[in-house]
Amino acid sequence: MVTRFAPSPTGRLHVGHGWSALLAMTMARRNGGLFRLRIEDIDGTRSRPEHVDGIIRDLQWLGVEWDEDIIFQSARLDHYEAALQRLRSMGLLYPCFCTRADIAASASAPHGPEGPIYPGTCRAISKSEGARRMAAGQAHAWRINMVSAVDRSGPLTWDALPFPPDPGAQARRVNAEPLAAGDVVLARKDAPASYHLSCTLDDADMGVSHVLRGEDLRAATDVHRLIQALLGLPSPVYCHHPLLVGADRKRLAKRDGSIALADLRAQGMDPRQLAQDLHAARFPVGISLASA
Ligand code: GLU
Repeated sequence: MVTRFAPSPTGRLHVGHGWSALLAMTMARRNGGLFRLRIEDIDGTRSRPEHVDGIIRDLQWLGVEWDEDIIFQSARLDHYEAALQRLRSMGLLYPCFCTRADIAASASAPHGPEGPIYPGTCRAISKSEGARRMAAGQAHAWRINMVSAVDRSGPLTWDALPFPPDPGAQARRVNAEPLAAGDVVLARKDAPASYHLSCTLDDADMGVSHVLRGEDLRAATDVHRLIQALLGLPSPVYCHHPLLVGADRKRLAKRDGSIALADLRAQGMDPRQLAQDLHAARFPVGISLASA
């Protein structure tokens, strides 16, 4: 068994991150497996080195110990580029020149599980026109043509473990519905990969057998399953944990400084007690499970 924790260094970790990391570590430890850490730092505009340092400090403080070297996505851009090349050669990608504003302004933009679904504007651009615009240096992302990709992969399923994670429990087979996500971005304008592509490739390369992550990424799992099928990668078992909410019932977010692990540390909280409490799903005052 190999599990992992894969934070993005775009802010400070909160209690929910600590809980997620402990869950994944414990799952590996109980099964004699490995627990690995990956820093998802390809977002050039939002990733910050000081957050990488903060994440490592916070995890160490909480008693989270990972096996093997930390994987940094910023050091793996070549792998992502190679996978993109393969998908491009299958005719499944197209360049997208839209800005966020273009997409928001599109009256017909329907909403999917992860926000607005891309209306497909650039799918209609001819190959030669796309090539001309790229040669002229127009900034572009690469999107997957989801209908073509799903045609190629055929129906897919992934294995879901119920929460709390008990690897002895029977995994449930879930139908993947990547079409609902629309033509997602696989390479960003500023990086040769998006979250979907880098995460899927890295989980495979790191030998991750069990992905434990928040409920908010359930729809992403459908997309990851599709990418696995297209690239011939193994598919891990997935377990999605509920999210934590604050006293206002809103999801914890990195911007809520009050429940940052660094703040709890600064307040003198005992990290062993906190880790024990989190193991038992007892959260600091005002924080609870979203479903509770
Ligand atoms: N980097 C993602 C995040 O911080 C998590 C990725 C994952 O667990 O798949 O939300």
